[in-house]
This record gives sequence, structure tokens and C-alpha cells, in this order.
Amino acid sequence: MSGREDGKGNRGWNGGRLFPMGSLLAALLCLAVSCGAGAAAPVRDVATRFAKERPSAWGMDLPGVLHRASVEDRVVALTFDACGGARRGHDDYDRRLIAFLESERIPATLFLNLRWIRAHPETARALAGNPLFEIGSHGAKHRPLSVSSRRAYGIRGTASAAEAVEEVEAGIGPIMAMTGRRPLFFRSGTAHYDDVALRILDALGCRAAGFSVNGDEGGTLPAGVVRRRLLSVRPGDIVLCHMNRPASGTAEGVRQAVPELLRRGFRFVTLEELLSLERGRSP
Ligand SMILES: [Zn+2]
Repeated sequence: MSGREDGKGNRGWNGGRLFPMGSLLAALLCLAVSCGAGAAAPVRDVATRFAKERPSAWGMDLPGVLHRASVEDRVVALTFDACGGARRGHDDYDRRLIAFLESERIPATLFLNLRWIRAHPETARALAGNPLFEIGSHGAKHRPLSVSSRRAYGIRGTASAAEAVEEVEAGIGPIMAMTGRRPLFFRSGTAHYDDVALRILDALGCRAAGFSVNGDEGGTLPAGVVRRRLLSVRPGDIVLCHMNRPASGTAEGVRQAVPELLRRGFRFVTLEELLSLERGRSP
């Protein structure tokens, strides 16, 4: 997500650096969805099934998007997007932020875009191998997930069911290669969806991850504002921040807010654990 991003920089779609396009397409055609919400339909069938559906709703708050959880415990889920892209700063990496989370043992869910993974392959592998972090997908080309080219913040959404499927699956592929499992959560570029795209996502076995607290407005806020936003959380909230803007106030704001939240009795959880707590069972 980011409210202040553009959709440019899509050059080299897949580019062949991690996954040659031919083999990726072959993998997509063969792949049967086997995790997540229990859906089990071959990917090509999902695109076909939704090819003629027309959307009737659009936005960040549609039913089916996970914004927060109803929990009794004082838990909060920190999520960090790594957007990627050619525009300066979008494929950068906030080492200080991640180092803080690691040193304080703060779990978080990291949403990695395919372009960011390509720009930071070794870092992405290290993060994926760290049990502190859950890895979600932030898509392939950082598009709003649409079947009719709907735009958000000037970024054109995917144009069809097939494009939406491709945006999801091409982003998920390298994450599966790193983690050995399909990510449970997907957050589109800009976090916008139409209702058909959400049903596609569900059929592909992924849950759309929204947020209830916008922690850093696309990595554009000073530390003091980030701190205040984080300190506004209630149990069950999902905080959205960014890990690709090291020049922003995000790392410092998080560093200031986390100890105070711990003093208030909050515990930090991944989205998977947050959902497990909502369901009233241990992960
Ligand atoms: Zn983003």
C-alpha cells in the first residue's frame, strides 16, 4: 500500500532475474492452489471462472478485507509493506527498522512486492527464514486488484480476471520458493480491491489484508506522528507501515512507540496469530 506511490517502474515485468517468465507461466498453469482458506482450484480455472464477472464495489473497506480482529487479549499486529518500483525510494530497505524488530524480538508481517524481492534477493531470503516474521505478498507489479482497470492514487489496477490472477500468483511464486509455503495474506498495491478481485483472491486461497491504523502514510510521516498513531492502537488493530522508506520517520516512530505499548501490556503478533486468537485457539 501507499497513498503516495505511482505505478510506474514496471519495466522488466518479471525480467527473468528470479523466475524466467516461461517457467513461471508453466508453473502457474500447472499449479493447483493448495493452502490458505481451503480453496483448491487450478489457477487457470480461477481466471476463467471470473472472466465475465463485473465488479459492483471498490475500495479498501470491502467485506472480506481483514482490517482488525475481535480479540480479548491486548494484541496488535504490525505490518510493513515493501513496495518496490523504479521511483526513488520505493525499492529501498529500512535496515534500522528491521534491526530494531529483530533486536527486540517483535513479530511482524512483512508484505513483499515482487520488484522489492528482486532488488533485495538476499535480504528477502533472510527475512523469509526468520521465524519472527510472517511473509505476505504485496503483489507483482504493485497494482490495485481490479478486473476493470480501476485506479487508486493514479495507479491503474489490473484490467481483467486473468491479470488479477497473474498479479497475485506472480507475486506469490518467489515467496513460496523462499518459505516453502503459500502466503496466507495478500495486500494489493494501494490496498484497493473490487469485489470480484476479492472473490478471485479467496479462490486462490489468500486473504486480503487491510489495516485499521495507517501508521506512516506510505512512509511519508515524521517520527512523532508515526509514534502517536501507533500509540492510538486498540486490541486487535492492524497497523500499516512501510519498510522501504529508510529516510522516513517510520523506524524512529516505531522505535519510540513499541516500548510504550509493551509497558501498556500490549503484545505484538503476526496476522496469522491474530486470526488464530480471534478464532479462540492457539496457532
Ligand atoms: Zn505498497
